[in-house]
Amino acid sequence: MLSYQHIFHAGNLADVHKHALLCVMLQYLTAKPKPLSYIETHAGRGLYFLDAPEALKTGEAAGGISAVRDWFDIDHPYRRALTQVSATHGEAAYPGSPMLARYLLRDIDRLHLAELHPGENAALTRAMARQAKVHLQDGFDMAHAICPPDPRRGVLLIDPSYEIKSDYDRIPGIIAKLHRKWNVGVIALWYPVLSSAAHDGMIDSLTALNLPKVLHSQVRFPPARDGHRMVGSGLFVVNAPYGLEAEAKRLSGLFKTL
Ligand code: SAM
Repeated sequence: MLSYQHIFHAGNLADVHKHALLCVMLQYLTAKPKPLSYIETHAGRGLYFLDAPEALKTGEAAGGISAVRDWFDIDHPYRRALTQVSATHGEAAYPGSPMLARYLLRDIDRLHLAELHPGENAALTRAMARQAKVHLQDGFDMAHAICPPDPRRGVLLIDPSYEIKSDYDRIPGIIAKLHRKWNVGVIALWYPVLSSAAHDGMIDSLTALNLPKVLHSQVRFPPARDGHRMVGSGLFVVNAPYGLEAEAKRLSGLFKTL
């Protein structure tokens, strides 16, 4: 049973880290006129409202994007997408990763999004209108079926909720297989940095694969609540686009000020 709902966490510091780096990758890849594929294995509902009771209950966005918006100049691609989403959906709206992609991609690009929770999938389908193919399917199954995608250039974001603890063990093998099938694809994996260090073995296995052009960005921040196990955010990127390393370094410095 899927119980995780991203509305409780939308716009928190982990989202800021993941979404800012995602936007920088998309900005770089869309600078060339060639079309690209954007694929997400765990898409969520795409559009969140930070005045919803679930978001207010945790208050994570208040300590997240609401507190650090000025880390991003008005021409930063993350800030540009946030501004456009506010203008369209109101000040309380916060874009999930599929919606950020929708705002930064072009008509020539293709989006494939998997979301297995029926309610979240229905909301995602409404939020994305006809601009994306939304799959009610396990995200890893979808990625294996689609890769290598058409167009061949592109990004795959893997952002599981890690409700299934075996995800930590099987993800390195999944990424190795996807990279073998799609060696030019940018593959980005998000993971929580946990006080228990449960993520460490997965990162060791990923590092041992010696995949090309790896950018591994890990930041730490104060837990959202006393005793909360997530104490940071990580993004492991294969075939990292130019410019990502500089943004990762900049963010790393900013997170240290929290
Ligand atoms: N990527 C989103 C963003 O940044 O806006 C957040 C995604 S949230 C962390 C993870 C989502 O994966 C949840 O909405 C959950 O319902 C969904 N999910 C869980 N298991 C799944 C699976 N096997 N396949 C596809 N989606 C799944």
